[in-house]
Amino acid sequence: MSYCQVLDTRTVKKTRSIHYCDWCGGDIPIGSSCFKFVNIYEGNFNSQYFHPECEDALTRNGGEEYAIKCNHRGKTEEEWDDYKQQLGDSEDNYLKKLKTYADLKLEAK
Ligand SMILES: [Zn+2]
Repeated sequence: MSYCQVLDTRTVKKTRSIHYCDWCGGDIPIGSSCFKFVNIYEGNFNSQYFHPECEDALTRNGGEEYAIKCNHRGKTEEEWDDYKQQLGDSEDNYLKKLKTYADLKLEAK
């Protein structure tokens, strides 16, 4: 495993340019809020951006390596499997619920 040193973690309240979430690969539109990690990975500076709910999933993933931009929004791989089995919900409905969740989380900060 490569060594990754996190230098800074912050909440961006309103993005000024479009970013792509490092967890799910989804876009983070201009003017929305997200989490930004600045790190050094293999000697290079990187900025990573996350949807608030994806940052949560990253935390729950417990520092395990993950497939960059290949995860489901706001879910670890395990949680996504469980979710599909339990609810059989459509991904569209899921994303609508997440929006509400992300707003609540940011208000609580
Ligand atoms: Zn995401």
